[in-house]
Amino acid sequence: MKPPDKEVCYRALQSRDSRFDGVIFVGVKSTGIYCRPICPARTPKYEHCQFFGSAAAAQDAGFRPCLRCRPEIAPDMASWRGTSNTVSRALALMAEGAMDGDTASVTKLAERLGLGDRQLRRLFLQHLGASPISVSQTLRVLFAKQLIHETRMPMREVASAAGFGSVRRFNETFQDLFHRPPLALRRKTSAPPKTAEAGITLRIRYRPPYDWESILSFFAARAIPGIEVVENNRYLRTVEIDGLTGSIEVRHLPERQSLGVTIRFPNVKSLPVIVARVRRQFDTGADIETIEAHLASDPLLGSLIVQRHGLRAPGGWDGFELATRAILGQQISVVAARRLAGKLVVLHGKPVSKDYVSHPELTHVFPSAKQLATAKSIALGAPIARLEALKAIAQAVVADPNLFSPFGTIEEIVERLKAIRGVGEWTAHYIALRAIREMDAFPSSDIGLLRATADVEGKRPNATSLLRRAEAWRPWRAYAAQHLWAASPTLIATRKHSRNRTQAIAH
Ligand SMILES: [Zn+2]
Repeated sequence: MKPPDKEVCYRALQSRDSRFDGVIFVGVKSTGIYCRPICPARTPKYEHCQFFGSAAAAQDAGFRPCLRCRPEIAPDMASWRGTSNTVSRALALMAEGAMDGDTASVTKLAERLGLGDRQLRRLFLQHLGASPISVSQTLRVLFAKQLIHETRMPMREVASAAGFGSVRRFNETFQDLFHRPPLALRRKTSAPPKTAEAGITLRIRYRPPYDWESILSFFAARAIPGIEVVENNRYLRTVEIDGLTGSIEVRHLPERQSLGVTIRFPNVKSLPVIVARVRRQFDTGADIETIEAHLASDPLLGSLIVQRHGLRAPGGWDGFELATRAILGQQISVVAARRLAGKLVVLHGKPVSKDYVSHPELTHVFPSAKQLATAKSIALGAPIARLEALKAIAQAVVADPNLFSPFGTIEEIVERLKAIRGVGEWTAHYIALRAIREMDAFPSSDIGLLRATADVEGKRPNATSLLRRAEAWRPWRAYAAQHLWAASPTLIATRKHSRNRTQAIAH
């Protein structure tokens, strides 16, 4: 993507305008360094500046990341660049390690997105000004740099965590880019390195405003016993990656416009995946200002946005876990769905390794699709149709581990999900929103949405007329839905029986 014209960029740079942070990067020709627009260093001369739309493009042009403003912690803006949904989806998959390991390739990544690799390369050049390979290398270097700065991890572990094949390769890359060995970038301190059990803590930046209270209470209301705990203004949960178990702890650092994440996990190689998932779950990549400006043209949404500036669309930690909850939650309250999910965990969840959890109530990880697909009986006090749907989705995930990969339009995603027995329109949209992170998902038959959009006389629209009204909210209908849900608290306690199974209320 081309950054805005040079005059605009330069003015943003002169005023250290944080609205441009993560959107533009400035390469300074006289020093060979690239910066964020908010860099505290003296503003370079206009003629020395070259502007880029991504860190990768600046690095491709031969610039090194600045050691003061640290482009690696710029908010994750590339993830919203609305003009190309495909590019932002590819970036999300990359962040989760799609380009790491010996067997990874651009072709495979393109396949997961449902297109050819030439097409993917072309889109990357057009929107980020760099190839998929160099973008993934940039992500790796920047992540390593963040680990060097923010943790006391030994260099060998940093190299491994950031996906470098060898320590030598890691050293060479840093020598090339920064003209010094990685260790020289670490601030001097006498603190000893922490162990994996004690956890490593990283910051994840967002672009303000960020409505932490709303997202935390959303997770609190839905916390599955044994898996998740919300306490002391923190969110804690167990995690499982490639058969290993551990936990994360997320808190808000408003003065740093960041979330602080403490990760306790036995394998450092999983750090990028864990960080990517936290970003997704807490929706830290949203360009919230643009989204709110767009939605505010609807008078109702406009008034809701004023009440909850920075409201995010929460995501699910794991696609299968989220889909399971969506199905369990069909036609019952959030509280009842939570109890049922807790029961499922006790019956089928795997106990966690105590070494990597920091809270006594974190006892299990969520059952895997394979476990539920092969379980003789799920033995849960829920209607038989619901249990069959649960089994069907577990089997679908086992058959296609990329079931929740984001490819196609929202309509295509919904059709794909609806092919699973027991998944109707509502559930498909709900899964698309929370698990696939499709920001245009909109479960228009949702009783809470219909109630929240009733007219002054209390007359509710039907799903079709709500859908028509929501046309104007595209491509961010998910945020409109989130505002409408947040504004109608009564729906949490409501129990609604309906013959239409797609009308559920446990979001
Ligand atoms: Zn700088």
